[in-house]
Amino acid sequence: MRVAIIGLGAVGSAALRFLIKQGHEAVGYEQFTRGHTRGSSHGESRIYRLTYTDPSYTRLMRRAYELWQELQAEAGEELIVPCGVLWVGEAVDPELNAIARALQSEQVDFEWLSPTEAAVRFPTLHLEPFERALFQREGGFLRATDCVQANLRLAEAHGAVIYEDTRIARLELLPNHIVLETEQGALERFDRVLITAGAWIPKLLPALNLPLVVTRQTYAYFAVDASREPLFEPTQMPVWIEAMHHFYGFPSDGRQAGVKIALHQLGETHDPDLPARPVDENDLTPLRACIQRRLPQVSETVLHAGTCLYTNAPDEKFLIQPLPDDPRVWFVSACSGHGFKFSILNGHEAVQKVMAG
Ligand SMILES: Cc1cc2nc3c(=O)[nH]c(=O)nc-3n(C[C@H](O)[C@H](O)[C@H](O)COP(=O)(O)OP(=O)(O)OC[C@H]3O[C@@H](n4cnc5c(N)ncnc54)[C@H](O)[C@@H]3O)c2cc1C
Repeated sequence: MRVAIIGLGAVGSAALRFLIKQGHEAVGYEQFTRGHTRGSSHGESRIYRLTYTDPSYTRLMRRAYELWQELQAEAGEELIVPCGVLWVGEAVDPELNAIARALQSEQVDFEWLSPTEAAVRFPTLHLEPFERALFQREGGFLRATDCVQANLRLAEAHGAVIYEDTRIARLELLPNHIVLETEQGALERFDRVLITAGAWIPKLLPALNLPLVVTRQTYAYFAVDASREPLFEPTQMPVWIEAMHHFYGFPSDGRQAGVKIALHQLGETHDPDLPARPVDENDLTPLRACIQRRLPQVSETVLHAGTCLYTNAPDEKFLIQPLPDDPRVWFVSACSGHGFKFSILNGHEAVQKVMAG
């Protein structure tokens, strides 16, 4: 069968590789160039973790992790950095306790660390006396852009066709095939279509009135004194997340100088067709406050900062659905700020569904 994928970010790139490996004629369309920075999947790092309050995500992550390992092996490069994940919060924090319960229900090992124990294990992170930390070792970060590039490279090696700088403007559902029209007016016929267009899904499918809100998010890399850099390596420092506030950060990723810090809280709503407003002092002030209380050895000097888009569903769940009137076309919205770790699994599932349609 001839199958098109619209959008080659985290989900679309994974789906393209699965499709072609299953022996279909796979064609991917990307409106920008591969690995671009206008969507949701660019950058050096995305957290993967088993630590969720809802154990169904823990189960999904276990399945997704196997697929990431397969991709890493096939790509022959480091895509997974398994540094562990440390949640920090007040000793009575309900989210920490809910995560611990969910992990127990899934028989996942974890450790509680007192502020003193955490200071010995992870000296770069400061805990207040009334806080504690939950450490889970089967987490870390994925090299985001490299994952997308690896999926696309391998898909092409297996015979997939990729069109970059090609935006799909319209779909026409005909009885025997689906016609895609590019913005330049070219027409192509397909048997199945998978829409993995991230923040642009509502624009491609306006009639569905999807409850998706696109927001501008920011992150920044802050400088670390050269003499202290070894303490920030992933062998010495985990990914960390603050319960309640939801600031989070990474050890050094070995690519971009400094350490990356961000806030998981919805930013301003944004039209993805417009370039996102550059990072400014209003974005950086809360990150600097977080550094002061949590990372005393990190400087407030910004080395690099950037923007990225969340496509938010009301319950932070992912949508994998057919068009209401045509099961030959499916769409996947898999963001809500936590979808990268599951993108390979969502791409895999979406391929199964659209091919069964
Ligand atoms: C700042 C930030 C931090 C995050 N942190 C984490 C994290 O730590 N862990 C985690 O698991 N997740 C995280 N996420 C979420 C995760 O990155 C997203 O869930 C994931 O990248 C979404 O991938 P996607 O393929 O759906 O979207 P995208 O990567 O945006 O891909 C959609 C693609 O479709 C293309 N496209 C759109 N319309 C068309 C069209 N008409 N024709 C052709 N091409 C089109 C776009 O150009 C784009 O390349 C974070 C997101 C952000 C923004």
